[in-house]
Amino acid sequence: MVSDETSKKITGSIRDSLEKTKKDIPQLAGVVDAFEHLLVKRTIAKFALPTPNFSNVTIDFARFSQGVPVLDDGKIDIEKDSFRKVALLLLPAMRKGFPKLDAPLSRFESFINESETAIDQLLPAIESTDSTVLDELARNLDISPTALQFVCSELAKPFTEKIAEAIAPLIQDVTWLKGYCPVCGAWPELSSWKGPEGRRFLNCSVCGHEWTYMRTQCPFCENSDNAKLEIIFSEDRKFEHAELCHECMKYIVGLDTRNMVNLPHPSAASLGLIYLDFLAQERGFAPGATSAWNVLEKI
Ligand SMILES: [Zn+2]
Ligand SMILES: [Zn+2]
Repeated sequence: MVSDETSKKITGSIRDSLEKTKKDIPQLAGVVDAFEHLLVKRTIAKFALPTPNFSNVTIDFARFSQGVPVLDDGKIDIEKDSFRKVALLLLPAMRKGFPKLDAPLSRFESFINESETAIDQLLPAIESTDSTVLDELARNLDISPTALQFVCSELAKPFTEKIAEAIAPLIQDVTWLKGYCPVCGAWPELSSWKGPEGRRFLNCSVCGHEWTYMRTQCPFCENSDNAKLEIIFSEDRKFEHAELCHECMKYIVGLDTRNMVNLPHPSAASLGLIYLDFLAQERGFAPGATSAWNVLEKI
């Protein structure tokens, strides 16, 4: 059981990281302000959730060592009452941060408050990889499918992060050589170089799990030809970079934490690197993982 004290410490660290980003890169203040409420509430929601029940999760280590993630079937067990609570905590934070979504989010909130079967209809849209389930719900709620995808993935995050935290100790000593997440199979959104040797760690875009990965290999296509890998950064912020792969034309943003005194909280870190997303995308590269801000641009 994690104490309120820990929750406060982590939400404080997220706020500090975001304040620092706004101070250092004032151009990002708008987007940081938009996401701040959501990041903080998401963390509070995660801490309030009970530890997940693992009775239906068995780790097949033989398959795992061949690159099959723990949650291979993509199914996460979300308990209805917890989901309702998380939704009613996060939806107002999203309305506050993203005014252009206010009307659809308000309809979404009423749907959860007023329909007894709302959660039964929502969970399949979140748990299923079949986009027709999500599209149908979007039509019923008069929300664009992209906006609904954004909302659903944000609502699922506290649950997936909680599950990942519980699974992490079970797989920490088992070798994983893939660029996708060993817990949920999603692509990473952040690459950090840590420790004296600059060991590379990747952070999952969906469940937040962190794992080590070869420093000189693209996580998305496994290309390790140095001539096709490029690192770009801004001269005055050399500790932040984007790693580009000319083979698959994907990129991942990253941090060199070796000389950092205060590490940004991972869920706030990639938000402070959006300027590198712009630079990489301007050059024709696509993000390897779908970040919330990349989805929002399309709404
Ligand atoms: Zn993951
Ligand atoms: Zn690649």
